[in-house]
Amino acid sequence: MMQQYERIKSLHRDKILFFRLGDFYEMFKTDAQEASRILGLTLTSRNGIPMCGIPYHAAQSYIPRILDAGRKVAICEQTKMPEDNKGIAERQVVEIITPGTVLEESYLRQGEHNFIGSMCRSSVQRDLFCLSFIDISTGDILLSAYDGDGSRIRSDLEKFSPREVLLQESLFGEIPWLPGEMKASGTVLNRYPDWHFRGGGAARILKSVIGVQSLKAFGLEDDSPELESLGPLLEYVEENAGRPIMHLNSIQVVSSRDFMHIDGNSQRNLELVRNIQDGGESQSLFRIIDQTRTSMGRRLLKSWILQPLLGRDEILRRQNLTSVLYHDQLTLNRLREILSGALDLPRLATRVSMEKAHPKDLRAIMKSIDEFLEAYRLLESGDFAALFPTEILPILQNRSVLISSAITDDPPTSIADGGIIRKGYDEEIDKLRSLEENSQVLLDEYLEEERSASGISNLKIKYNRVLGYFLEVSKGQLKLVPEHFERRQSLVNADRFTTPKLNTLADQITGARENMKLREQELFIALRTRINENLRELQLAGRILAEIDCLQSFSYQATLRGYTMPDIVEDNSIRIVGGRHPVVETFLESGAFVPNDLEISGSPRGFFNLITGPNMAGKSTYLRQNALIVLLAQIGSFVPAESAEIGLCDRIFCRVGASDNLARGESTFLVEMNETAHILRQAGTRSLVIMDEVGRGTSTQDGLSIAWAVCEYILNHLQCRTLFATHFHELSELKHPGLKNRSLAVKDDEGEIQFLNKVVEGPSNNSYGIHVARIAGIPDEVIFRAGEILDEVQRSGGSLSITPASDQRKSMKLSSPARQRGLFGQDEMVVQEILHLDLDSLTPIEALNQLHRMQKNLRS
Ligand code: ADP
Repeated sequence: MMQQYERIKSLHRDKILFFRLGDFYEMFKTDAQEASRILGLTLTSRNGIPMCGIPYHAAQSYIPRILDAGRKVAICEQTKMPEDNKGIAERQVVEIITPGTVLEESYLRQGEHNFIGSMCRSSVQRDLFCLSFIDISTGDILLSAYDGDGSRIRSDLEKFSPREVLLQESLFGEIPWLPGEMKASGTVLNRYPDWHFRGGGAARILKSVIGVQSLKAFGLEDDSPELESLGPLLEYVEENAGRPIMHLNSIQVVSSRDFMHIDGNSQRNLELVRNIQDGGESQSLFRIIDQTRTSMGRRLLKSWILQPLLGRDEILRRQNLTSVLYHDQLTLNRLREILSGALDLPRLATRVSMEKAHPKDLRAIMKSIDEFLEAYRLLESGDFAALFPTEILPILQNRSVLISSAITDDPPTSIADGGIIRKGYDEEIDKLRSLEENSQVLLDEYLEEERSASGISNLKIKYNRVLGYFLEVSKGQLKLVPEHFERRQSLVNADRFTTPKLNTLADQITGARENMKLREQELFIALRTRINENLRELQLAGRILAEIDCLQSFSYQATLRGYTMPDIVEDNSIRIVGGRHPVVETFLESGAFVPNDLEISGSPRGFFNLITGPNMAGKSTYLRQNALIVLLAQIGSFVPAESAEIGLCDRIFCRVGASDNLARGESTFLVEMNETAHILRQAGTRSLVIMDEVGRGTSTQDGLSIAWAVCEYILNHLQCRTLFATHFHELSELKHPGLKNRSLAVKDDEGEIQFLNKVVEGPSNNSYGIHVARIAGIPDEVIFRAGEILDEVQRSGGSLSITPASDQRKSMKLSSPARQRGLFGQDEMVVQEILHLDLDSLTPIEALNQLHRMQKNLRS
């Protein structure tokens, strides 16, 4: 048997092999060691071979944990038992389960896609990267092809969060950060040789799956680069499932012409679907605006947020439908009730197609169809009617009636145990059922007959799995047992018997029961096959319900939080009156959030807002709220503002705050500079750039100089709409016709400082850093001393020798940041820099870079 094991295992080196032995799946050797660690199982050993096992029927509860650990599972079953029970059973791997191809309900997260991705460089157009993603559980396929440096790959990975990826071998060298980043996010990586990605296999498979002659309807040709990475992915998916995947049909080509591009960092910095703190969903834009009622709606809303629209018409269409429900609250509330009864139709349809749907799933399909038809009846007379293709309505109605006539009200999840088919659906089942019921009556009559003939007053007929039906006589009455009773078992209190007549009756009952189970199973499978014929209609109904759910979510959120419908304007301006941060406002008491305006236009005038103000005054909040309002407008939602006019943005860049990316081995400052560099290279005239505290992660004079130069570059070259916040109030010295100075108001009442969170015209002239330090609880002595030093610095116009409070002999030089360079000798500056280096957070390469720069400064 171990030889057989080794042979099978050699074909599945990268998976944990579940090797069926009787009622258990056993794992051996390193698989056993790993699985025992992941699953907390006891590791045993036989003949020195480590092993552990799980009961076969409990496998479904263990598999998700293995997949979560980033591993795959191969299920190896006994396919043929040896004759006469001698020798060993034949075994075969029947299913491979991987994080990206799993279909089990217990593993999939509700309301979230479960994508598997594939990436390669196009073999036809060498400047293109080709990306594809499939969610097998819903049937969605997303395709794209981009040129550039691979930064799009990062943003797609962030956007679709695939659980597993197929990666072309040569990309490992070409995009060095890719493997590390995937590992850090727990994505399972499959390396594929380059040649796998050649050839037009994808078009052929797709056409046969969808049942079309051409892919033109999806905007694709057979040799479109978008399809290049899809071929190996489809093969991989089918290979694992062990069968063709016939339910893939929702194909979307993600093109930069249709959707706003938000790179990975900006998605993260804006906290669109995840927060920055722990990467969870809480406090993200998605969590706050999500008022959907269905899992399919929730998935769609998330993808809308990550793919805002560029086409004005489609935005206006969504806005209009949102507005219809917003103004008809009765319909809105009724619709929300209806939607909460609908289940996850795309996933249910997939289960039907993969022959995994159980009787409860079919009831769930029926219920969802009924809610779909109910939604249609509610909305048919208005603008929503256009969403419903009327030809599918009678088909779906018919399927719902069919399921309801066939399946019992509360069926089991297993198809083996009966109790599935309703009375009146099938003559044969009804016959078998009445035979069974009849036999029960006959059994009762027979018991009465034996009781009166023998005089055993407490004679009983009982049933158990071992003996089947038997007569039970208590010890006290054994002397009355007649001759035709055959003893089968003797217990402490009673003996058990059979009789020829009881055997005949029992056979009738169990026979009827067994036949009924088989017939029910057969009928159920036939019904599931019939439902499978209408896969497309079910998927379509699911998509329509998802869209309606998102639109009602917009209307409901607008009602709940007082959002208004933005005007989508043709030019490059953005005018927001009384704008609020959709997330921050929900964490403050009602009315506590201070609304702020924004007026920004396209180049040449007033396209750059420089926002100065102390830390904690509300700059970041203001910046992000404007970006989020633009984004909400471009997904068709209402926005948290009194009024808003939005000129569409093709990209939103957002660099906010500073955070280490330890997984990538980058320090705070390097991350900050990377993100800034990316923005300066990529932003175009229709982009919206949000920059917060550029230059914060290095010494003051470095930081100020970089921030200054970045502002100048945007003002002179990029000329895109920009909100630039900084605590370097020196930056307000910048002069340019495109620049407007704004600041956050501070009330200074004889030293009593209050941040008003109000954006006002003009620059700020104070950092109030000591005030913030006091709020943070820095000891009074330190605050007092800092105040003294600040006074001296300000009085001296920036530079002086300060006599340290505790030591009169040593002298320490301070300077105001802008002039620092001129006041220190180069060597002293280098000494200062070395003293301020944070060695704990420097990587060796950064240390080298620092050293190089210092050497250069000393030489210049
Ligand atoms: P900064 O970027 O200037 O350091 P933040 O934007 O981080 O300041 O804001 C600091 C805190 O002030 C936030 O956590 C928030 O609670 C509060 N805040 C910011 N803006 C407002 C506002 N408009 N109304 C009320 N509170 C605000």
